[in-house]
Amino acid sequence: MDFDFSTPEEAFRKRVRAWLEANVPDDLRGRSFTATRADPEAVQRLRGWQKKMYEAGFVGMDWPPEFGGRGASVLEQIILYEEMARAEAPQFVNRGGVSMLGPTLMAHGTPAQQKRFLPAILTAEEIWCQGFSEPNAGSDLANLQTQAVLEGVHVVVHGQKVWTSMAHVADWCFALVRTDRAAPRHKGITFLLVDMKSPGITVRPLRQLTGEAEFNEVFFDGVRVPAENVVGRVNQGWSVAITTLAYERDLLTFIRHISLRNALQRLVVLAKRTGRGTDPVLRQRIAALAIGEQCLRLNGYRSLTRILRGGAPGPEGSTAKLYWSHLDEELAATACEVIGLYSQLAEGTEWAPDGGQWEFYELLARASGIRAGTSEILRNILGERVLGLPKD
Ligand SMILES: Cc1cc2nc3c(=O)[nH]c(=O)nc-3n(C[C@H](O)[C@H](O)[C@H](O)COP(=O)(O)OP(=O)(O)OC[C@H]3O[C@@H](n4cnc5c(N)ncnc54)[C@H](O)[C@@H]3O)c2cc1C
Repeated sequence: MDFDFSTPEEAFRKRVRAWLEANVPDDLRGRSFTATRADPEAVQRLRGWQKKMYEAGFVGMDWPPEFGGRGASVLEQIILYEEMARAEAPQFVNRGGVSMLGPTLMAHGTPAQQKRFLPAILTAEEIWCQGFSEPNAGSDLANLQTQAVLEGVHVVVHGQKVWTSMAHVADWCFALVRTDRAAPRHKGITFLLVDMKSPGITVRPLRQLTGEAEFNEVFFDGVRVPAENVVGRVNQGWSVAITTLAYERDLLTFIRHISLRNALQRLVVLAKRTGRGTDPVLRQRIAALAIGEQCLRLNGYRSLTRILRGGAPGPEGSTAKLYWSHLDEELAATACEVIGLYSQLAEGTEWAPDGGQWEFYELLARASGIRAGTSEILRNILGERVLGLPKD
């Protein structure tokens, strides 16, 4: 791939940089690597930020024009992400919608679904959560038991989801439900779009190690969903879900990598300021992180290029997610050593470096090897589907 930017691309970079400098709100700047999505008020501000970026033409730039994008080039998309990182701008709050459901609907949705749902994904007027995991279906997702029965023009849902990030603030949920109990496990699943305001839905927040309650239990008690909200065909939702998961592991990892880069930049500043950068072992670890970040970035460019040229993310996306989570955990551990005991001080304490964001970062990093597929599962996928090893 050619990394030189053309004159129009450099002009685009200048325009994005100037726009971000003028528009990133002070209270959101620099919060990008730990921006909370648990607090409804913070989410409200982040909705406003995404809408503003959309109006300036920067959300879903790479989407085809018929879906509300402008078919931007790979390089323009990369420039946008780079500049958002440089400006320490917050990420899009509706990233499940923009990076997972949007591409899924473009690939599998009906024209009516695309028309109804895609515009409000881009503007963050409708925030989406992902209702896949259940108490007995995480890694073994095909074991999901939430049941749905077709009744006339509705699908009626009973069951429970868990670890549903942002369900407490989401307007809609894309969920997997079992519509045929007699069929083989992967063949009786349906992909459904559920309005979170529907009667029969109860959301119960779960408090995490960080102290925040960003994910939730979601209970469905006879929830009636219009049958027109089935994506793909009834009982054929597994292949739709594979598309969603591939985008989660590939495209979203590229976006997550931007937060990682911001955190690394801050860590370097801290190492210099505290004098810990002279420690020969810490220097090695920080340099190794910087090299890892470059590898992640270049690998991300490769995947983005394939996706934006019309391809789909493949099982190789698991490499990016796996490597990102390794780096994220290592970055958190290294930061704790650089900062020492002060790393345990939370936001609101005057002695906490970077406003206490490291304490949050370190605790959140414990989840990096679990969410969006655990490291063990990703290694299994790579073993089977990329290396052709015998099945797990
Ligand atoms: C912060 C966070 C946010 C999340 N947000 C969402 C969300 O918005 N929506 C959603 O649907 N889900 C969400 N999840 C759930 C996440 O996808 C699951 O936690 C994950 O898939 C693991 O499932 P589990 O927790 O049931 O663990 P289990 O599947 O029970 O796994 C337990 C352990 O066993 C290992 N293991 C399991 N099977 C195998 C195997 N075959 N070979 C080797 N090792 C194995 C796992 O790697 C893990 O270490 C979130 C999770 C976290 C931590």
